[in-house]
Amino acid sequence: MMSSAQVREEFLSFFEKRGHRRVPSSSLVPQNDPTLLFTNAGMVQFKDVFTGREKRDYRRATSAQKCVRAGGKHNDLDNVGFTARHHTFFEMLGNFSFGDYFKREAIAYAWEFVTKTLGLAPDRLATTVFNGERGIPWDEEAYQLWLAQGVPSGRIYKLGYDDNFWAMGDTGPCGPCSEIHFHQGDDLPCLEEAAGRPCRGVACECDRWLEIWNLVFMQFERKERDAPLVPLPKPSIDTGAGLERMAAVAQGKRSNYDTDLFRPILDQVVELSGRKYGASEADDASMRVIADHSRATAFLISDGVQPSNEGRGYVLRRIMRRAIRHGSKLNLNQIFLPRTVETVISGQKVLSGDLVFFLHDTHGFPWDLTQVIARERGYDIDQAGYEERMREQRARSEFAGSGEKAISNIYHQLAERLGETEFLGYEGQGHEGEGTLRAIVIDGASEALEAGPGQTVELIFDRTPFYGESGGQVGDTGQATGSGGKTVAEILDTQRPVPTLISHKAKVKRGSLKVGDVFQLAVDGQRREAIRANHSATHLLHKALKLVLGDHVKQAGSVVAPDYLRFDYSHFAAPTSEELERVEDLVNQWIRENAEAKTELMALADAKRSGAVALFGEKYGEQVRVVSVHPDSVELCGGTHVRRTGDIGLFKIVSDSSIASGVRRIVALTGSGALAYVRDLEHEVHKASELLKSSPKELVKRIDAIQKRIRDLERKLEQAAAQSTSVSSKDLLDQAREINGIRVLATRVDPADPKVYRSLADQIRDRLRSGIVAIGGGNDGKALLLVAATPDLVARGINAAALVREMAKEIGGSGGGRADMAQAGGTDPSRIPAALEKLFELVKA
Ligand SMILES: [Zn+2]
Ligand SMILES: [Zn+2]
Repeated sequence: MMSSAQVREEFLSFFEKRGHRRVPSSSLVPQNDPTLLFTNAGMVQFKDVFTGREKRDYRRATSAQKCVRAGGKHNDLDNVGFTARHHTFFEMLGNFSFGDYFKREAIAYAWEFVTKTLGLAPDRLATTVFNGERGIPWDEEAYQLWLAQGVPSGRIYKLGYDDNFWAMGDTGPCGPCSEIHFHQGDDLPCLEEAAGRPCRGVACECDRWLEIWNLVFMQFERKERDAPLVPLPKPSIDTGAGLERMAAVAQGKRSNYDTDLFRPILDQVVELSGRKYGASEADDASMRVIADHSRATAFLISDGVQPSNEGRGYVLRRIMRRAIRHGSKLNLNQIFLPRTVETVISGQKVLSGDLVFFLHDTHGFPWDLTQVIARERGYDIDQAGYEERMREQRARSEFAGSGEKAISNIYHQLAERLGETEFLGYEGQGHEGEGTLRAIVIDGASEALEAGPGQTVELIFDRTPFYGESGGQVGDTGQATGSGGKTVAEILDTQRPVPTLISHKAKVKRGSLKVGDVFQLAVDGQRREAIRANHSATHLLHKALKLVLGDHVKQAGSVVAPDYLRFDYSHFAAPTSEELERVEDLVNQWIRENAEAKTELMALADAKRSGAVALFGEKYGEQVRVVSVHPDSVELCGGTHVRRTGDIGLFKIVSDSSIASGVRRIVALTGSGALAYVRDLEHEVHKASELLKSSPKELVKRIDAIQKRIRDLERKLEQAAAQSTSVSSKDLLDQAREINGIRVLATRVDPADPKVYRSLADQIRDRLRSGIVAIGGGNDGKALLLVAATPDLVARGINAAALVREMAKEIGGSGGGRADMAQAGGTDPSRIPAALEKLFELVKA
């Protein structure tokens, strides 16, 4: 017997062997498609490829797509667990042709897969083709192709537009479908037969015939709403086969829940609850609900959805609550959902992109080898996720290398001619010094011998106290003064265009600068002190992170500015707030110890022998500076440092976040900047306390109380609203008329609000049990109509969308929707009574 993992793998490799690219499932949260709550079909990730907006390097694809459907006519959440084949989460197997092959291959592939690979008996299979309707011709081509495969004509059923025509929306590609059905047995119950009518076979809602594969032939395009169809120049193929159904059929099970996709979870529920599966219909349904919802919960959360009160999060919360409610029906009063979800997770068969990247990046393990070994063990890899990680890394290294490439030739020439610029900033105070001007650079491209007032140029001296940006520490600013004060230039920034050359970006304020003149060079001292403190703090932070998080922590980059410091480090999980506090405490403790920061100049080889930590991405000359800001930490560093740790004053972490897989970033403040930050927070707390008429100490308690009050008020408001609509729906019920044995209710409700209409129609429909409801209303040139029908009438051919379209003509508008609920808008509210009256005629007719 084939396991579901084998069915999936057989499917994907079947199409891979026939020239299809195996594409990994996309996330359940659709990318770039705000109209869609969840990915609900295999074609979602290829939407733009089908419309031609996006090009890929392949024209045939196959995938096993994760899908969630939790609402709508085909998957009302309330059905799940009570039928053999409704699910909130499922996998859709599919093969796709983007303007490549068409019907002939699609039909031949599908038939070969189900009869040869799965080995299903051809005499238990039937197919359907589009019958032709709404002016679209019937699909004789598909009919002939099925005949050619050996399907007897009596087993090829012709179905109409609703069953066998597919469209992406009101406009865009569309076309006929063709389905493959599997005969499960005529002993299964059928609601039609129970009502004294014959079973409708492949078109019936019952389980006797199970649809296992739908082939969509995209051969037309609708350019505008309601415009006639035009043939697509390059028709495409989109197919979908539910893995759960395929597995059930392959394993000879009549219910998806009896397959190996669900049995381990059901077994877990049996074990937890102590009840038997198969002993009571009510218990069985509850167990199936838990099994289905555990799968949906596991996959939604792993794709980043969190339970909340809106959008996707709200759907997830409803699913989890429903599972928990059915747990309590089984007397499962302990916390059980994490256990059943865990069963799903241990069954998960995809290695994450992060893991594949980690194996490649850290251990040099090539991704394709990972894939081979994973597949041997029934796992797949998230290739798209892996490629995304690779792209991020490439972007990072390109960014890091961009400075080097852009360096114009002139700096290399200057470095060769002038030799290394001597940096005076390490010695003594290090803020001031004297230097001879050796070169003036204009626009990074040419040299000049003189620069006058107003000009912005770059100055190169033989020696300077200005620090050129490097190792993450920003460049200094300050002033250059010459000729006894007659010449002044403001230094705006200092860079190292090549490692040995310090270049000062300067604006001439007064006088004229000449090459060969001697200048007094003064760094902005306060700014430099702040940079020293921030820079020195990064050494202490590095040491503290190693002590608290572990020796694996490595510096991955840093920025040291006068007003903050940023420190990137390698670590795989987010540190807890306790860990960050411990790091902060350690750094502040070392600051208070006020130890001397030592610097030694030595040869690189000696430095390495002494155990100095080399920093990531740094380049070192022959002679290196070995810095110990903390007595136990020895690092190679060319930056400027405080004399004693006490000069740092105070250290405060402001944020910690993830910037790439396995790389985190801390932003922190020191000295007066840290104090100002704490003081600002204090002011905010005081302001908030005043607004809430509370004290800082009572603030949280007060906010809690206010939130509770808001929740109470919201609940009361909801109750009041629910009461008022349920009362009015009861009153309205008396107005229903009976026409040809059908209860029909048409009424006016103002103001017209689609949301209110829908909820009202739902309530009336529930109370009518069997009937048709129409609600209309409006003003100011806007009219709204809504029609709803109960499922039994829909099954008998009543179509709310068709009714509302006819009625909409009265109000000068148009509409549409589903067979059980549809709405229309128009411009003439005065004709609402006529439109509502029309319903009775339509039903009569
Ligand atoms: Zn039936
Ligand atoms: Zn340093």
